[in-house]
Order: sequence, then C-alpha cells, then structure tokens
Amino acid sequence: MSPTFVRVASASLLLSLLCACAPTAPRALNRGAATIEVPVIHHPDGETPDWWFRAGASAAHANLPQRAHAKNVIVFLGDGMSIPTIAAARILDGQRKGGSGEENRLSFENFPATALSRTYETDFQTPDSAGTMTAIMSGMKTRAGVIGVDQRATRGDCASSRGTEVVSALELAAAAGLATGVVTTTRITHATPAATYAHLPERNWEVDTEVPAKEAASGCVDFARQLVEFGIGNGIDVAFGGGRTEFMPADQHDPEYAGFPGKRLDGRDLIAEWLKKPGASYVWNAQQLNALDLGHADHVLGLFEVEHMKYENERPKDPGGEPSLSEMTRAALTVLQKNPRGYFLMVEGGRIDHGHHAGNAFRALNETIEFAHAVEVANAMTSADDTLILVTADHSHTLAFVGYPARGNPILGKVRGSSGEGAPSKDFSRDAIGLPYTTLQYANGPGYPGASERQPEGAKHYPHDPTGYQRAEQGRPNLEHVDTEAEDYEQESMIPLGAETHGGDDVAVFARGPGSAAVHGSMEENALFHVIAQNADAIRTQLCKLGACDANGVPVTRPTREQLLQPAARARP
Ligand SMILES: [Zn+2]
Repeated sequence: MSPTFVRVASASLLLSLLCACAPTAPRALNRGAATIEVPVIHHPDGETPDWWFRAGASAAHANLPQRAHAKNVIVFLGDGMSIPTIAAARILDGQRKGGSGEENRLSFENFPATALSRTYETDFQTPDSAGTMTAIMSGMKTRAGVIGVDQRATRGDCASSRGTEVVSALELAAAAGLATGVVTTTRITHATPAATYAHLPERNWEVDTEVPAKEAASGCVDFARQLVEFGIGNGIDVAFGGGRTEFMPADQHDPEYAGFPGKRLDGRDLIAEWLKKPGASYVWNAQQLNALDLGHADHVLGLFEVEHMKYENERPKDPGGEPSLSEMTRAALTVLQKNPRGYFLMVEGGRIDHGHHAGNAFRALNETIEFAHAVEVANAMTSADDTLILVTADHSHTLAFVGYPARGNPILGKVRGSSGEGAPSKDFSRDAIGLPYTTLQYANGPGYPGASERQPEGAKHYPHDPTGYQRAEQGRPNLEHVDTEAEDYEQESMIPLGAETHGGDDVAVFARGPGSAAVHGSMEENALFHVIAQNADAIRTQLCKLGACDANGVPVTRPTREQLLQPAARARP
C-alpha cells in the first residue's frame, strides 16, 4: 500500500466520521418490480441495436420509474457545446453585461435537472454529429458518419443500410399527429437536423449530386429530397435553416446571390414541391419571415442562406437579412403551438461547432450565447407543466479553459493573475520562457503558430482554412501586442490541423418540465431518447402501438421503420 493511498483512505474515513449522514446505499437502480432487465453482453461485440435500445430504456426508467406526462418536447442541441464552452460563454455573456462574469448563468443553467452524457459511438471513441444525433433521436448508438440508420449499416454503402433505418422521435411525434419542427443555423440537410427526419448511411449525401450513381441506384435518396418528401403524419410543419441551393435545380439562380445556381441535377425544384402542400409557405429572408401570418401558417420552409447560415456576429452584414436562432425559435413555436395535440421541436445551435473547428473561440462562444437566448425564448413561451425541454450537446471539442486568471479577467484575453497558485499580479502571467498566454486554448487546430500556406508564422486569424503547416521555427508567438479578444483571433493550438477536432469527453444535459427528473447521473447519450419516449405521452403511446412496450407500457423493444410506415400504425387526425 503506497503512502498516498493511506493518506487518501484516512481522509475519506475522517470525512465519513465527520459527516452526520449514514452511509447511503448505491442509488436505487431497482426500485419496485418494474426494473427493466438488460442482458449482460461482451463489449463491444455483443452490442446490437436491440441491446442499445433496451439498455437506454432501462437507464432512463431507473432514473425515473414513475412516468411523467409531457405534451410537448423541445430538444436544444448545441453542436459541439462542450462543458468548457458553456463555462467560457457564460463568462463572456456576463462580462458583456458589465459583470465579472463567472457568476453569470446562461438561461439553461437555471434548469433543475442536469446529467453528464457519454458520447462515444459504436465504432469511435470520439464521435461525430451524425451518429450521436441518431443516438439521441432513436435510442440506439450507431456508427460515425451515418444518419438515421443503425450500426449494421456500413458507411457509404446504400445496400448495406436497407432495413437498418431507425425510428426517430420526430417521426413518432408526426405519426402520433403532433406538429413537428426542425430549426438550425447550418444547412437544414446537415448531420444534426437530418438525423431528425432522414435515413442514409452517409452524412454527406445532402443533395442528389453528392450521392454516387451506384448508391442512388440502390435506392438512396438525398437529404433535401427526404425532407420535402417526409410523408409521416401531416409532414414536417416547420423547417428553418440554410442550404437553399440544395433544393433548387441547376437552371435556377439564387435570389440572394446573383449568379449562384441551384445544386440539383435531377431537375427537381424542391421548393415548388414543398409549396404544393396545403397551407404551405416558403421564405428565404428575415423580412419575409416577419411578414408571414404564423398564426395561420401550416407548413413553413425557411431557407435563409445558400450554405450554412451566417455566424451570429456576421449576420448583420448578410445581404438578404437572416433571422437569428432565437427569432427562428419564436417563429417555429408560434406555428407549432397551434396543434392541440402538442408538438416536437428540435433546435440546433449548429455553428458553435464550426467556430471551434476554425480554432476561433470568439465565434464558438458568441454562438453559444445566442443558443442560450433561443432556449430562453422557448422557456418563456412554454410551461414547465406540459413541455419537456432538453438542452445538450452531441459531442465535445478541444477548447481548454486554463491558467490562473484572476476573477473578472477578460475570458478571451491573456491571463493576468498568477503563473502558479501564488498571489495575483496585475501583469500578464508568463510561461516558463517568459511569454504571455491566453486563458482559452485549443489542443489542436489551425491556431498552431508555425507558418501555414495561408498565414505567416505567429498568431493566426479567421478566416484561415489552412491545408499545410511548417514547423514553428520561433516556438510560441509573443502575444504581448496581439489583441486576443478580437473577433477573428484564433487561439493557439499545440497540434497543427486544418480543422480543430471534436473531443471525447462527456457533455452536459440540462432539462426542465415533465420527465426532466429522469435526467441525472452519468447517462449514455442514447438514453436521452428514452427520457423523451417514456415521458412524452403521445410518443410513448405511438411506440406502444408499434409493439415496442413491455407489460408496464415502457418502450423497451426497438421499433422498425416498416412498422412505423404501416398505415394502421399512424394516427389519423
Ligand atoms: Zn464538428
């Protein structure tokens, strides 16, 4: 026994003696007779879609055995919104309001329930957005790069994916007669939104021209078409995001950017096809959205940019005028709240992830702050008595929040405080070479100080998009006179990469409303679906109609898409 171990052991013994509380039994995982047994398997070989579904159901049920009753469900997904991202964004937001910052709370940090979410995929330790959002939407973990299909599919192989399509929470809601909506700041066909409404073994097949002929011949249809052709229930009621040209034929020109043609080569005008639905409308800028009579609109398609929508800090410069994420959330809820049966809405802050990939903490944090505004809008427009709101991320990033900055130090600034655990100083803290450094840094990415083929050695700035680097000849750059709080500054990274990577660490979940009490402890990401499935009445009932429920009415058996598409399974308004 090492001396360290002895010391730790005695400290904990002392703690338990001082503590008046009796030693608590491990949290009751088996309350009552209704425990959902999960087969013991060998990992990872024994994992199957059925096992994931049952294991997720068991975990969510153990967290909240007494069913709650949510009429509406809103899932807020901050793409790549790691825990350091939340901590740094709350400080930036607080400092903008004139405070020290650390004590500030983002809207969702006031929610009563929290958990940690474990994000690995069936084949990757550090995941991507496609497999993770599929897990959150379907209750089963799956592979990286695939959307709405389970782990039996091979990425990029259409034939292998036939019959592996999952059933998503949005599809279940639509089948149950609820209103449904998808809102994002990325292309509406990007991984996270696509996982709510579509099924393909390749996340990059967003438009017909990206689907290889052989795969198209096997029956795989691009995400833009799947969105417009979504045929469950009454269809999708609200779809807001970017990616406009993926819906336009190549002989059409974009209304916002002259000379920018549609991307489709199949000749289809998907916007015109959308408009054939009864009560449908289409808008492509903020002014048109504001002019819409949302109280009477039924199917609203808003495609506000040809590619991803603008970052929030660049939005005022958009030629056509784009709505913010919170404005889109407000508009979406106004449409969806008309349905007396309730609704399911997914809102993605999609460009948090892109700011991080660009090694630019300013954009990632600024997007996170707007994401929190959108959550606040939804919180204010709904009641915790009937609406479950989940706020989470799909995966982490490599942003590090480090050093010993003093209280109130600008979060995007250089560390002033201490270089160790010593008394604070007014001067910059310095590394062991004598150079100042920032509080926020990336483990890898484009902020590496060596020369890239686009920018010289030293501090880097957005936009950058490097493809190659040289070794840093001078070592770390001297940041003494570099404005690291500037919007375009790229934080230093240790490993040169054209794009910063995701992180494999856990992300946070915040929840309020009926069912939120199931959000606690360390949860596998796919269990979040089961929090929804067990506590949103219409979705649970729909799953039971598909034969997914056990004797206690808990969905434990993976439903199939064939079951969902059988007309008898669908509620008719
Ligand atoms: Zn990403």
